[in-house]
Amino acid sequence: MTSILGLSLLELCYIIASVTFIFGLKMLSSPDKARKGNLIAAYGMGIAIIATILFKEELTPEKWPNYALILAGLVVGTVIGTRMALKVKMTAMPQMVSFFNGMGGACAAVISLVEFDHLMHAGQVELGMMIVIILGLIIGSVSFSGSIIAYGKLEGKIGDRALPAGQVINIVLLLAILGLGAFIVWSGSTSPIYIYALLAISLLYGVLFVMPIGGADMPVVISLLNSFTGMAAAFGGFLYDNQAMLTGGILVGSAGTILTVLMCTAMNRSLTNVIIGSFGGNSAAGGESGEEGSIKEITVTDAAILLAYANKVMVVPGYGLAVAQAQHTIHNLEKLLDDKGVEMNYAIHPVAGRMPGHMNVLLAEADVPYPKLLEMEDANEAMASTDVVLVIGANDVVNPAAENDSSSPIYGMPIVKVLEAKNVIVMKRSMGKGYAGIENKLFYHDKNRMLFGDAKDSIEKLISEVKNL
Ligand code: NAP
Repeated sequence: MTSILGLSLLELCYIIASVTFIFGLKMLSSPDKARKGNLIAAYGMGIAIIATILFKEELTPEKWPNYALILAGLVVGTVIGTRMALKVKMTAMPQMVSFFNGMGGACAAVISLVEFDHLMHAGQVELGMMIVIILGLIIGSVSFSGSIIAYGKLEGKIGDRALPAGQVINIVLLLAILGLGAFIVWSGSTSPIYIYALLAISLLYGVLFVMPIGGADMPVVISLLNSFTGMAAAFGGFLYDNQAMLTGGILVGSAGTILTVLMCTAMNRSLTNVIIGSFGGNSAAGGESGEEGSIKEITVTDAAILLAYANKVMVVPGYGLAVAQAQHTIHNLEKLLDDKGVEMNYAIHPVAGRMPGHMNVLLAEADVPYPKLLEMEDANEAMASTDVVLVIGANDVVNPAAENDSSSPIYGMPIVKVLEAKNVIVMKRSMGKGYAGIENKLFYHDKNRMLFGDAKDSIEKLISEVKNL
């Protein structure tokens, strides 16, 4: 095969692909470059796939049926994936990520099964190879079944169900997986019974592990499963001596782990608490509830006057803004106020919405200038000099219980400190709770007034009122 600088064409393509993955991932950390970063990494993956087909083995006519199958797989996968990605609503993104992640886990598990089959027929077992196959199978299958359950829960097709003594059953299953895996590796057995038993127990473990976890914690679980899939893919890279697969898997594995830790930190919860404890799912757990006092409403006209005569306005966007698809409308209000000399910024809480970076992506879609998106710490510093805070479709991320109610399930989670501003207006449809399923005393605070209605409708009304002033 042609060699360049001592590298085969295949190795060169894998290096190019690996570099695109790293640059792509780096670019994902900034909203203005994220789209391009995603494309660059996708091109890199394309190069790796084509290079593997063309250069890994000699193309011979007897392999054509295999190439036809690969091509069919590529076409079917591309068509389904593209359709799903084009159709998906912003609010359903976590489900889609979970589904795709599950497919990655399934691929890793199937790779392990196929390679095990090769070992079985070759009749010779290499220890390192066996360890990689077993680990890939376990992690890939847990990731597959867990992700599919997470998808079903987020789609509302599966409820939170915990078996009695579920934690004990999970520990027993985990021990069985580890024991059986170690036995297969140690004995070098190529008997299909053991490997299929390991597959079945791992699949069951994935189901039972995710089943009882509350809906609010699903993004954390998805991120964790995502890191599992990355690891499983990296094992595939070892098996096939495929550096692009190895780099890609390691990057997904480590990025998923970091994201999981960041989300837990942003919610001030440990991973164990997310997995064993839970708020959101069935939770009425903790937190004060019941009669909270009285709320004050504000009319659209009064709210518009407050905004038009303010110097500084801060918007706290939340999940409801995404549901209402009000990102373009809020940007229009921002431009209108800007023309009137009012400075409007956005306070971005790290776990606002339903996925990491949800608000950044949403507002970037509406071309809100990036400097206007303030990280929570910067927004909190700016609060004292803010005249009006508009809390739009956000609830948990502004709930003062996180600071002053130690019995609350969200106690300790950093929040946007809206009460430090001069006026607060909360815009939502009703007194409905947020994802954590708990009351919010902010709504009853003296400084706060409620503007009820769908976020998009209310902002549109505000725009027309401000225009009339
Ligand atoms: P939230 O606490 O879930 O509250 C959203 C609010 O939006 C609801 O109270 C709802 O009230 C309102 N709403 C819904 N549709 C609306 C519409 N069309 N117009 C106006 N309002 C609407 O949202 P959040 O403050 O963004 O907090 C996010 C939650 O998700 C946190 O608990 C966080 O820990 C959790 N979470 C997030 C992530 C992540 O990565 N982002 C990960 C894990 C967990 P009404 O029904 O009364 O309108």
